[in-house]
Amino acid sequence: MGRRKKASKPPPKRKILEPLDTMFNCPFCNHEKSCDVKLDRTRNTGFITCRVCLEDFQTAITYLSEAIDVYSDWIDACENANN
Ligand SMILES: [Zn+2]
Repeated sequence: MGRRKKASKPPPKRKILEPLDTMFNCPFCNHEKSCDVKLDRTRNTGFITCRVCLEDFQTAITYLSEAIDVYSDWIDACENANN
């Protein structure tokens, strides 16, 4: 009798990244999806540019690198610069 407690777990927090999604939030101007990543496979270089504040960044990539990796490097570089 009585109410049954649901043993419900909170859903796992997982960001779904679409392969073609190369637009990211800008750490400088905080605009959403304003940063465009380009991967130059021939030069092993990744570029990211914010089309709102025009901040840009480039980093070395490998054949395994994706747009998100370039973005992550940028965020890391920003955090290092702030420390
Ligand atoms: Zn920006």
